[in-house]
Amino acid sequence: MQQGEGAEGQAAEEWRRPDGRAADELRPLRLEVGVLENAEGSAYGEQGRGKILVAVYGPTEVHPRHMEHVDRLTMLCRYHMAPFSTEERRRPQPTRRDIELSKVIREALEAAVLTERFPRSMLKIFIEVLEAAGGTRCLGITLASLALANAGIPMRDLVVGCAAGKYKGRIVLDLSEEEDKEGEADMAVAIMPSLNRIVLLQMDGELTREEFFQALDLAIEGCRRIHKMQVEAIKRKLQEGLALTPPTEEKE
Ligand code: ADP
Repeated sequence: MQQGEGAEGQAAEEWRRPDGRAADELRPLRLEVGVLENAEGSAYGEQGRGKILVAVYGPTEVHPRHMEHVDRLTMLCRYHMAPFSTEERRRPQPTRRDIELSKVIREALEAAVLTERFPRSMLKIFIEVLEAAGGTRCLGITLASLALANAGIPMRDLVVGCAAGKYKGRIVLDLSEEEDKEGEADMAVAIMPSLNRIVLLQMDGELTREEFFQALDLAIEGCRRIHKMQVEAIKRKLQEGLALTPPTEEKE
């Protein structure tokens, strides 16, 4: 089937996804920076029904000591789905999936952080999925990089994630949970948008070579759109900070 021609032969403009979106449309996305008082950096986001909170602590001394690197920062990342985040209550213990996602998210973020600036130090990133609705690793990465920026951690670039995949024979952007479950393929991508570097690429399902590159291009386009929203979220937080700063008294 041709991309853009639906099962019923509808024109591309008429074809809509279960939630009414066009193939290349993102779910409604909300990003907020600096939402927690007690963390050095934090961010909260909603993508469709999905809700994620990220907190960053550090840099601090390394505990346990054997995790210390003499020449760079030790980064810890915990991706965790709250027991109430899915339709059926999950067991609170981390699953193999949680452990895998914690690792790939940490590696994606490590590519951006100037780890050499913090030898013998540790940074902890907590990603709490409050409500899961598909694409949580991508939103987790997008928010974690905002939380790192909020904590003042020097980075080469922001990191932004977005998924694309195949649903009912079409390449679609930012799959919902329903599309993820029923679709033919799901590809998670994260990039450093200014440096033009891919820092995460994972795929489930099957795509032809041509579809693979279509999905990759679409996911990167999604990342670029989300990156603009990341920058806006940082600006809003900075402006809020400036508005709270009392005006300096003029000296006689
Ligand atoms: P991602 O959230 O990055 O897309 P997956 O493709 O593994 O990761 O998961 C897709 C979606 O399936 C998740 O966002 C979540 O909504 C749902 N899901 C994942 N694991 C579970 C689980 N253990 N129980 C219920 N739903 C889950």
